[in-house]
Amino acid sequence: MIQPAKTLEFFLYSDQPATCPRCGSRTDILLDLAHTILQTQVHVCLERSCRFEFFVTL
Ligand SMILES: [Zn+2]
Repeated sequence: MIQPAKTLEFFLYSDQPATCPRCGSRTDILLDLAHTILQTQVHVCLERSCRFEFFVTL
């Protein structure tokens, strides 16, 4: 069975700004699709030891 190298998890946030679901650090927006039909943003954790990437559904 083939596993993808990286999978992005989805999280739903009702409050802004989003924080990393793993370590709670601030995140940066890699890709903002908030104004598209997807209404999602791709965030990356700013913590160097974490760098967790995840989708935020708006
Ligand atoms: Zn993190």
